[in-house]
Amino acid sequence: MHATTTQRIAISTSGLRKSYGDKVVLDGIDLEVAEGTIFALLGPNGAGKTTIVQILSTLIAADSGDGVVGGHDVARDGDAVRRTIGVTGQFSAVDDLLTGLENLNLMADLNHLGRAEGKRRVAELIEQFDLVGAAKKPASTYSGGMRRRLDLAMTLVGSPRVIFLDEPTTGLDPRSRRTMWQIIRKLVGDGVTIFLTTQYLEEADQLADRIAVLDHGRLVAQGTAAELKRRIPGGHIKLQFTDATELDAAAHALAGSSRDDAELTLQVPSDGGVQSLRTLLDRLDSESITVEELSVHTPDLDDVFLALTGQVDNTRSAVR
Ligand code: ADP
Repeated sequence: MHATTTQRIAISTSGLRKSYGDKVVLDGIDLEVAEGTIFALLGPNGAGKTTIVQILSTLIAADSGDGVVGGHDVARDGDAVRRTIGVTGQFSAVDDLLTGLENLNLMADLNHLGRAEGKRRVAELIEQFDLVGAAKKPASTYSGGMRRRLDLAMTLVGSPRVIFLDEPTTGLDPRSRRTMWQIIRKLVGDGVTIFLTTQYLEEADQLADRIAVLDHGRLVAQGTAAELKRRIPGGHIKLQFTDATELDAAAHALAGSSRDDAELTLQVPSDGGVQSLRTLLDRLDSESITVEELSVHTPDLDDVFLALTGQVDNTRSAVR
């Protein structure tokens, strides 16, 4: 859903640019994230995702353009921005020599929570992030998934209103990834805004209210997963025949289809729904045309990604 006037904006940028030497990393980024929503910045390795997060979390300065987080300008009011946000990155803040509990206590101290409040908050997070059994063990003994959970829990000690998650599930196995997704969904339920970067199309599809696709430092598309999918034509039903006569007859009967004579296949534009499938089969039946094989292709975010960036997302197989 597009941010409306009734929704407050948690994060916005306009004309954000950043170069390193003569390498342009961000080439004018304009985006808006409504409060209490999940925004996914989707892009391949090196697209500039981390650079955007670094600018919005005040770690580095943009060369030009504006960024506003929680109503505060990132360049002029860095302290206020830092008080509003939590960030977990690929380089986690977890100290391996400390236990999970000690790591969390340290964050409570850094956030000046006070003894009683710190204790309460840390206990709550240990419970919520399923770290009860591991809390007293050194973080060095944690699995990848437990580490990410601890890292995110540490970010949440200060109860930030805006959370940046830079590739929160990269390298996790599918089960840990799903656990992380559940945790992230629960956070927005409490009104927190989440800005997520990911290389995984499925992750953006699963979690995000809105998605922006970043490629070579430019946003090449923005919208909901459904809106992005609609931008891609290519939903079709593919029919396979055993001989050219059947193919001929079918091509004749089905207006708007495109044929491949070498493969003996016919592609019929379709939304892939049951009703249109039934209509198609009825039509073939009434003409007594025999189809050897039929497959339905509905566009998914892979198609979107490919169409927008010209690249196949080869990380996706790891998600399944
Ligand atoms: P992503 O997070 O999408 O993988 P990054 O924002 O990390 O992309 O990087 C975008 C581009 O900027 C990459 O080509 C990277 O090499 C370059 N880059 C990032 N940080 C620096 C830096 N400190 N110095 C030089 N180049 C950098």
